[in-house]
Amino acid sequence: MTRKLICQKCNKDTAVELCFDEDIDSQVYNCEHCGGRHVEVETGQLPGAPGVSRFRLDEDE
Ligand SMILES: [Zn+2]
Repeated sequence: MTRKLICQKCNKDTAVELCFDEDIDSQVYNCEHCGGRHVEVETGQLPGAPGVSRFRLDEDE
């Protein structure tokens, strides 16, 4: 599954390939430009609301 997101490190549009990281039990992607790693964060999702994934930059490398 590919989608476009804005990298939180270099602020460029990047096509992301989400993959599941079992160690942290979350989806992750790497920016195609700077390689910045992003981790999906849980959102307080309301019933009936469309699922929105939010990501944060993972700087612990
Ligand atoms: Zn980037």
